[in-house]
Amino acid sequence: MGLTKKIVLAMVAGIAVGLLFNFLNTSQILGAGVSGFINNYLTTGLFDIVGRIFIASLKLMVVPLVLVSLVCGACALSEGSRVGILASKTLLLYLCTTAVAISLALLLALVIQPGAGMEVMAGDASFEPKPSPPLSEVLINIFPTNPVDAMAKGNMLQIIVFALLMGYAISRSGKPGQRIAGFFNDLNEVIMRMVGVLMVFAPYGVFALLANKIAQLGLDAIVQLMKYFLVVLAALLIHALGVYPLLLKLLSGLNPIQLLKKMRPAMVFAFSTASSAATIPVTLSTVEKRLGVDNKVASFTIPLGATINMDGTAIMQGVATVFISQLYGIDIGLMGYLTVILTATLASVGTAGVPGVGLIMLAMVLQQVGLPLEGIAIVMGVDRLLDMVRTAVNITGDSVVTAIVAKSEGAMDLETFNDDTYHSVMNDGERNTSAAG
Ligand code: ASP
Repeated sequence: MGLTKKIVLAMVAGIAVGLLFNFLNTSQILGAGVSGFINNYLTTGLFDIVGRIFIASLKLMVVPLVLVSLVCGACALSEGSRVGILASKTLLLYLCTTAVAISLALLLALVIQPGAGMEVMAGDASFEPKPSPPLSEVLINIFPTNPVDAMAKGNMLQIIVFALLMGYAISRSGKPGQRIAGFFNDLNEVIMRMVGVLMVFAPYGVFALLANKIAQLGLDAIVQLMKYFLVVLAALLIHALGVYPLLLKLLSGLNPIQLLKKMRPAMVFAFSTASSAATIPVTLSTVEKRLGVDNKVASFTIPLGATINMDGTAIMQGVATVFISQLYGIDIGLMGYLTVILTATLASVGTAGVPGVGLIMLAMVLQQVGLPLEGIAIVMGVDRLLDMVRTAVNITGDSVVTAIVAKSEGAMDLETFNDDTYHSVMNDGERNTSAAG
């Protein structure tokens, strides 16, 4: 069986086992002893341990992969001196897609009114927001003072700046530069192989993560916040299956169904980890190996997208804002909604690609339009599940923009993109039918 199939099966099995454990626990069909065993030794025991080791192994690869891959990419790009054009196109598309996502979310929420008639719940929630840093600080922080510190902290934007500078310098350094470029290209191969080696364990990791999370969450919280949950879900699906395909077709002429099908492994990873950052190794290798995007584009657009492009997160924030305004019976007016579009787009740039940050950044959006921050505590109950779905949308957005930019830069192998036999996400030239997947 191919790796992708195994991962998808593991996801389904993880969700099923999680739901079963949750049901057994809440319905108390089994005695306290058996429930205790399931809880202590499986859910918060084995599954938790395997899940965490899996996330650690993904995160382990992020910094070396982004640094090395982007140095190679920037080096190749600088030779054609297209860095500026590529960066501007990418940034523009990332910002525009996010603005569209949040507008769609607002529109849908205003039409469906998920919070109407629910004022009762607003009384007993509390939430302590962390103050968000001023914009100037955010800008200054993009520029590293110490590359080792940036890498140690996994500060993606600082690593990107350092890698771009280094790649540019390598391409301008003649013979020594060529030697170093050769070294980085070789290192890139080795690191990709490391990702591949770790991928073999992915199905177990995905299963453990989902079984653990779903067993603890269950579906109770969703029932209470059903309308909110469904509106966010609907907006996420419309954006992923409607807006992205349309955009891809219009701007690049590429077949959207092909892209969505080929990105499946990365989506499953994003869904089970709820972290765009931890998914970078998989997204990067999927767009390169399956969509045929050249490393010089992907190595820049994917880590950048995982850091600043969060369409799914913006959608949640849009719906949550409308929902909370309806709960508290506060009308924020047209100016309020425009402010939400602007702030949520910026908040998406500032949201780190790790679980749950989107909800913390929602505080910034609510604050801008004067809505009570306690509202966050109300939507918190269903946030983890929505986080999983929106992270999958976030990385789909990154891949769509990557494909558009790559196609326009002539940095895409169309044969690979259109090829119906799915290349392994991990190893060059291997097919899905191989043992490795
Ligand atoms: N978990 C999301 C991501 O990593 C961010 C968020 O919405 O909390 O993309």
